[in-house]
Amino acid sequence: MTISQLPSPFTFSQSSLQDYNDCPRRFKLRYIERLLWPAVETEPTQDYERHQQEGSLFHRMVQQNIIGIPAEKLSVMANSDNLSKWWDAYIQHKPDLNGYTLYPEYTLSAPLGEHRLVAKYDLIAVKPGERTIIYDWKTYRKRPRNEYLAARWQTRLYSALLERAGNHLNGDALILPEQIEMVYWFSNFPIEPASFNYNKEKSQRDWDLIAKTIAEINTEKEFAMSEEERPCKFCAYRSYCDRGIKAGEWDEFDGEIETEESFEIDFEQVGEIAF
Ligand code: SF4
Repeated sequence: MTISQLPSPFTFSQSSLQDYNDCPRRFKLRYIERLLWPAVETEPTQDYERHQQEGSLFHRMVQQNIIGIPAEKLSVMANSDNLSKWWDAYIQHKPDLNGYTLYPEYTLSAPLGEHRLVAKYDLIAVKPGERTIIYDWKTYRKRPRNEYLAARWQTRLYSALLERAGNHLNGDALILPEQIEMVYWFSNFPIEPASFNYNKEKSQRDWDLIAKTIAEINTEKEFAMSEEERPCKFCAYRSYCDRGIKAGEWDEFDGEIETEESFEIDFEQVGEIAF
């Protein structure tokens, strides 16, 4: 019998699944050994950190606006060129969600075997019985290709989990996959959102992949380093892996900046269902 190295219960998020996908060793260092940020991920660090702070603040401003604080009051928080540009873009091009009930900064969770799945949504917009739209605000400097986003764990997990764990947002009725849409809204490209409609086939495919991946992680022994070295350039663990000591250049960085918030989940506030 293989003894799992994974703590149990383990909470799987899109970040941890994506880390496993990109590099099993990174998953092990981050989530099993819990080595936190031993090295900067890009140089110069100030640019990286500033973008991280601006991204967090932008998310907070949007969330506050959605719960009813007027945009004019919030605009004083836009205290940098980036924030001011993103905020203007949001005000001019924010989605029209008239008629929807809005759940900003909402976390859903569901057990899966001995473990648990969790997703923290920037916004879930619901017209009960008709349509549910997941919004995710992105402050990417480059607009990723739709094919790249479609294959990301975030796109798969967020739609799949909403379908299984979001009934209470839908008047306690089942959410059909065909009623789900996921939209990435880009603060730097406000008129080019990426939208993905869900359906039964995608749902089946995603749940199969979720089960397969979690079973694989459960019995994983090696947690091998990624074959490609590209992810190492922007990885905090490169010195552990002898994959260089210098961080990748910020100008070349096209990934997502992880904010600490991504890891902070208050399960008291989480809607969880058994299935
Ligand atoms: S440095 Fe490379 S091999 Fe090491 S954990 Fe990071 S991505 Fe994986």
